[in-house]
Amino acid sequence: MLREKRLKKLQRRLSKKYSKERKQNKQPQSSNYHKARNRVARQHLKISRQREEHAKIAARYVIQFLDLVAYEDLKVRNLVKNHCLAKSITDAGWYQFRQWVERFGQKMGKITVAVPPHYTSQECSNCGTIVKKSLSTRNHKCACGAQLDRDFNAAINILKRGLSTVGHTGTW
Ligand SMILES: [Zn+2]
Repeated sequence: MLREKRLKKLQRRLSKKYSKERKQNKQPQSSNYHKARNRVARQHLKISRQREEHAKIAARYVIQFLDLVAYEDLKVRNLVKNHCLAKSITDAGWYQFRQWVERFGQKMGKITVAVPPHYTSQECSNCGTIVKKSLSTRNHKCACGAQLDRDFNAAINILKRGLSTVGHTGTW
């Protein structure tokens, strides 16, 4: 991501302009420091606007083409506490995306269902058996013969749960 790269560069520049001596002598930081700080702030703003825009476009697209959208009811705050996952989850703007999906869904009369996230990736989408796997295991392989991508397996489980919550989708 180009903008993130630029942000890192600006942040490095900012830290170079920070003066400990000034701080110790209770003097204000240089005007170059303040300029650099301003640039960092503006870059942060650009990135967050772009993220919001991406979330909105993706959500509109999804709602346009689907009649029902099911997704895991993830507690983003808990996930972000997990350090390995924090960056990818906040970057993906999952929470914003979900909000836009729900907003557009309501507007265009589509169904959106948040399902409890328990065992969605461990459960076999074919037979229901729990197949334990770590986060790094990318495949789902079950004794019943089912063999598919980890995320695809989870997606089928999420859809099934979504459909069972909604009941008779045919009547919509
Ligand atoms: Zn199975």
